[in-house]
Amino acid sequence: MAEKIKSINTREILNSRGHNTIKVEIKTDNFKASSSIPEGKSIGRNEVLSLPAWHAIKNIKEKISPILIGKKVDFKFFDKELIKLDGKKDKSNLGANAILGISLAMARLQAKIEGKPLFEFLSQFFPAKEKERNLTLLMNVVNGGMHAFGGPDIQEYLILVKGDSIKESVFLGARIYREMGKFFKRNIGDEGGFVPDQSDVQFPLEAISRAIAEKQVRKKVKLGLDIAASELFDGKSYKMGEYKFFPKELIDFYLRWIEKFDLISIEDPFSEEDADSFFELKKKAGDVLIVGDDLTVTNLERTKKAKADDLISGIIVKPNQIGSLSEVIEVINFSQKEGIKVIISHRSGETNDSFIADLAIACGAWGIKTGAPARGERVAKYNRLLEIEDYKS
Ligand code: PGA
Ligand code: ZN
Repeated sequence: MAEKIKSINTREILNSRGHNTIKVEIKTDNFKASSSIPEGKSIGRNEVLSLPAWHAIKNIKEKISPILIGKKVDFKFFDKELIKLDGKKDKSNLGANAILGISLAMARLQAKIEGKPLFEFLSQFFPAKEKERNLTLLMNVVNGGMHAFGGPDIQEYLILVKGDSIKESVFLGARIYREMGKFFKRNIGDEGGFVPDQSDVQFPLEAISRAIAEKQVRKKVKLGLDIAASELFDGKSYKMGEYKFFPKELIDFYLRWIEKFDLISIEDPFSEEDADSFFELKKKAGDVLIVGDDLTVTNLERTKKAKADDLISGIIVKPNQIGSLSEVIEVINFSQKEGIKVIISHRSGETNDSFIADLAIACGAWGIKTGAPARGERVAKYNRLLEIEDYKS
């Protein structure tokens, strides 16, 4: 007999910024599973909309639960039903957080019913041939922009760690992070990275370069940035610390930095409204990944357009930018088929839910971006990756 949905419990909980978010638990007679939903701060203009936690919970109780109770557990079926019921592109009727909370808890429940760990259950939705064997960890070791009080205007300075195993990558990344403590006071931002007590945008790159200078380390650890440039754009130019750049000047500035610091990835180097500059930089940046986040917002149509216009070589995938697991799967499969490197990502306001770790392994993502190896909500994802690696071996 198929397991039928018996009850749905929801609760307001805190996220890592101390804001209210939702936790959803779904039960059948024999199984239960839950999810909790993160929150972004530097939010792309085209993301779907989450509602305040109390409102999302009210919608789950009054509008969603009656549809689910008594039915067979099937996340894909309910994703479709709820998207239809919401009826709006931005999911603002039911709330993207309400729909995603159900979607992720439902997938977890389905995995349990099938007796599989989550990553294994999810892997059936991704064709085998495009999967990366070895996940790169994008650890955000210096925080600025909206994720920090003070510090540089650039939002994220990342180390990209790729050892021979996840275990090696996690512990190597953590060692580099600890070493970087020498260059900073112990002030950390929303994603666990250090926050410099100066606004100089180049200083963090110099600090990281020193921390990874050792030859053996250098082979496995590279540098990257998330500029989150929409936050710096006034419609004409970009303000970055004491600099003010017109788009063409900013392209040259990035090219100099790529050269000097051996950067291998730059996320949202320009505003989502400045597609021409994405195109120009991608053309000139060689193998450096030009990654869309606010530009693409885990939206299939926007991702297809970014591909057609040749704007990106990498994509950030954040489930709550689009609001259902089915749509996340579509974006990942499209991107991988088109040769766009997929980076599964947390949000700056997180919970201890480690769903994205399973998702990254299941789809064979190129990378996962889940903050510094500090703060429990970030560490939860790294620890889950370690657990999955053990399972698999
Ligand atoms: P957010 O930042 O979660 O605050 O949107 C993360 C990012 O821009 O990658
Ligand atoms: Zn970003």
